[in-house]
Amino acid sequence: MGDRWRPPTDRGYNRAVTEMRFRGGEIMGIRIPTVFEDNDAQRCAGCGEHIDGTPFRVSIMDIVPPEAPPSWAVGAAFNPGPHEFHADPTHFRTWARERGFFFCRLSDVRELMRPIPIPGDDVRWGVCDGLHPQAHELVPA
Ligand SMILES: [Zn+2]
Ligand SMILES: [Zn+2]
Repeated sequence: MGDRWRPPTDRGYNRAVTEMRFRGGEIMGIRIPTVFEDNDAQRCAGCGEHIDGTPFRVSIMDIVPPEAPPSWAVGAAFNPGPHEFHADPTHFRTWARERGFFFCRLSDVRELMRPIPIPGDDVRWGVCDGLHPQAHELVPA
């Protein structure tokens, strides 16, 4: 974390380092794990921006028979993830919209979403948490 190198004159820098250690590394000998180390890897799949803190992870469920289309179609359509997003559900919907998926109006964005095949000539998909008893109401994400 660059603790060893300290400029001799810049007190502001030293204060910043102290605060950072207090928040991040170690308090009274107890190590507090933080996300500092892999910050760069945490990018939102929806907006592409850096994610502060814990990303919201969403996985797409496997298709279960008898809904199963040819497996190549599923593979082409869905990367099962987990995909990482900002906590705001609109970021997941951005991700879905960019891929041409529909989103069920009765669904929330949850850690596990299931793909809903949409009948028609083209293979199209909606995503839903699958937790409601009614028929899906799929709208553009
Ligand atoms: Zn985002
Ligand atoms: Zn639904």
